[in-house]
Amino acid sequence: MKDVKNYTLKDLKELLQKQGFSNFSAQQVFDWIYRKNVESFDSMSNLSKEIRGFLKENFCFSKVKLSKQEVSVDGTKKFLFTLEDESSIETVVIPKKDRNTLCLSTQVGCKFNCSFCLSGQSGFKRNLKVSEIINQYLEAGKLIAPESITNIVFMGIGEPLDNFVNLIKSIQVLTETKGINFSKRRISISTCGLIPEIEKLIDLKLGVKLSISLHSVDSKKRTKLMPINRRYPLEELIKAARSFSRKEKHLITFEYALLRGYNTSKQDAQALARILRGMRYKVNLISLNCLDAGYKSPDQAELDSFRKELKRAGVFFTLRESRGSDINAACGQLRASGLNK
Ligand code: SAH
Repeated sequence: MKDVKNYTLKDLKELLQKQGFSNFSAQQVFDWIYRKNVESFDSMSNLSKEIRGFLKENFCFSKVKLSKQEVSVDGTKKFLFTLEDESSIETVVIPKKDRNTLCLSTQVGCKFNCSFCLSGQSGFKRNLKVSEIINQYLEAGKLIAPESITNIVFMGIGEPLDNFVNLIKSIQVLTETKGINFSKRRISISTCGLIPEIEKLIDLKLGVKLSISLHSVDSKKRTKLMPINRRYPLEELIKAARSFSRKEKHLITFEYALLRGYNTSKQDAQALARILRGMRYKVNLISLNCLDAGYKSPDQAELDSFRKELKRAGVFFTLRESRGSDINAACGQLRASGLNK
């Protein structure tokens, strides 16, 4: 049986209409699930007996099960959820001032094997369903209540654009005005750089933000960090990014993990400035969340000198502190620590 949370409002309307039910009933179902937090068709009292019967026979409510929870000294909360096929995924909530940013996973494992990231190390298993993405939002929301989620980043395990159809549908469910009504401008997708899907995103005009994991603007070095750079080379990726930032109103973000002695020289800063010139962007510097992959994060002197060079070269950047490092909060770390046991 399929989880009813796999359906966008449009899909559910079409499906119910085909069965001869009114258009409006889909809207009522959305209202029950996403506004009244009801998880049983029997409780949907304003629906006819026939519709309730049809829904009960054909759909279910699936759940993600919390199997582990860690809280960092900085307040970052990391949840390990078990899915119905016993796969596990991570969901993180990062509090900051008046914000709670939810970091969602989109796949079990990852195909892209970035050398500094743990997510791909145990291989790729499968795409997450729309309902599994939505369930992370709903469960994390319950777990942090009375606080609420204010921002969403698709930056957990997996490559969101490699699960394109379900990613888009889950964004449609999250932003549905008749349901959760989450603001598009507070949703961001992070990608390792899948150009055809970035182009599809541009065509869809969803109004969500985009982050591109860049990490180096030297083609050879980027390929070493991110093998995807062979298939979708840097120059082409930057072209796609320019096109995204031209068509969407908000700036595009480039993620740049700092790797000691690898991507933090004066030349790196100047090359970054050159390649991004004329674009509406922000570079997000992240200190590498250390793991045993041969890379280290820079010391303070190296960091200070790189920042100085970036300023001098005219690069617009912010430094994102690495959050939750005491609880394995970097991509795939909690899941990997569970898998190793
Ligand atoms: N596949 C997507 C989203 C998941 S990774 C992407 O590549 O963007 C989310 C971000 O965390 C990416 O920018 C990724 O490069 C970064 N990341 C992964 N492992 C990291 C680590 N050990 N330290 C710092 N950043 C890391």
